[in-house]
Amino acid sequence: MYLKSIEIQGFKSFANKLLFEFHHGITAIVGPNGSGKSNVADAVRWVLGEQSAKQLRGAKMEDVIFSGTEARKPLGFAYVAITLNNSDHQLATSFEEVTIARRVYRSGESEYLMNGTPCRLKDIQELFMDTGIGKEGYSIIGQGQIDKILSGKPEDRRELFDEAAGIVKFKRRKIIAEKNLESERQNLCRIRDIISEIQ
Ligand code: ATP
Repeated sequence: MYLKSIEIQGFKSFANKLLFEFHHGITAIVGPNGSGKSNVADAVRWVLGEQSAKQLRGAKMEDVIFSGTEARKPLGFAYVAITLNNSDHQLATSFEEVTIARRVYRSGESEYLMNGTPCRLKDIQELFMDTGIGKEGYSIIGQGQIDKILSGKPEDRRELFDEAAGIVKFKRRKIIAEKNLESERQNLCRIRDIISEIQ
């Protein structure tokens, strides 16, 4: 699996529709300070479901929408789509290519799309779980993040290894199963009370 392309329109400094195409091997994005290199990484974070404006270096979510320049009026929406080559089927779907898109309007209205079909954020999170690509993954290492990982709590570091080992989905399923078990235990308790009242 590899990142094949990123399409951006109206996101941060990228007002015009722009297509980045990537190939096998190493790709570097270079440019002067303030030219928008980090905005490309922010776009990938955002389309994968980032909900925190702070993580995207903004104050509020609306800050991801192109806010205008002296020469150009602000835009009313931001759109990002990433396409992944999935010919090795590392992502649990039969599609050879997976395109994830996110669009947000100034009104706050927003949507996620998977291969052109509207979907929930949860669907995207589940698709990328244990691949290292999701919002919580380690595929994007931001400035200062290595320091944070090295000096962080062992439990936080453990989360990174869990994701790499592919056990996050099992841990999540265990939590859900334990919650269901607890609720059944309480139901059983209630039934026992009722039975003893009737007898
Ligand atoms: P550096 O090399 O200094 O880290 P960079 O190339 O990574 O810089 P970015 O941080 O990606 O640059 O881009 C910063 C630019 O993006 C700034 O000029 C900022 O004004 C612009 N920018 C950020 N958000 C928006 C927005 N919503 N609308 C228009 N421009 C924006």
